[in-house]
Amino acid sequence: MAKKTPARLSCPTNFEKIEPVFNQEFGTNDPIFPEWTLERMPKKINIKRIKLDKNKMFERWLYGSYNTKGKFRCLKCIKSGIVDNDATWSSAYTTILCRAYYGPDTDEYGQDWIGGWIQMKIFAQQCTTCDEYVTAELDDQKCRNFVTWLHRWIAHKFYGYPLPSFGYRGKKSDGPHLVDRCEACHAGWCHFHGNKSQNKNFLIKQ
Ligand SMILES: [Zn+2]
Ligand SMILES: [Zn+2]
Repeated sequence: MAKKTPARLSCPTNFEKIEPVFNQEFGTNDPIFPEWTLERMPKKINIKRIKLDKNKMFERWLYGSYNTKGKFRCLKCIKSGIVDNDATWSSAYTTILCRAYYGPDTDEYGQDWIGGWIQMKIFAQQCTTCDEYVTAELDDQKCRNFVTWLHRWIAHKFYGYPLPSFGYRGKKSDGPHLVDRCEACHAGWCHFHGNKSQNKNFLIKQ
């Protein structure tokens, strides 16, 4: 029997990897919150940090960010035959933005529900060779770490549980980080220390 090699393009997306871990974590790990749903953040959402109030809220949604280490692969460069080294990079400042809302919602049949919604977005970085925006790839362990943080964050913010510190926070002395090529820096969410003075000077592509 011939072995099937999975095609590269059919690799699960980050969201497809994270969603089942999320359902498992929120549905079975104490404290359980089965009424919460995870979604991709819709593209039209304005994700600039500067519009938030002092509680990190905007229009009833609570915003929070998580820092991890991601690998980036520019498929455009790889397809055009650029050597791997110039088309791939990793970044200690890979930012995941989440926003959460708990309350009433109406489903497609007009039925009212009370539940929690979390929307997530992984910020892209721009390829230095071709300027394409590339989204980081997270391995299984990093997906699990993110969901663990998400669970604690929701437990803390919506149910008053204590919040231990989580997430990869980068080295003490910041390594090289291409602020101009980081979507999270532009939006003001990057954990890179050097981004603070720059928040207001950028406009994010919507
Ligand atoms: Zn590229
Ligand atoms: Zn950044």
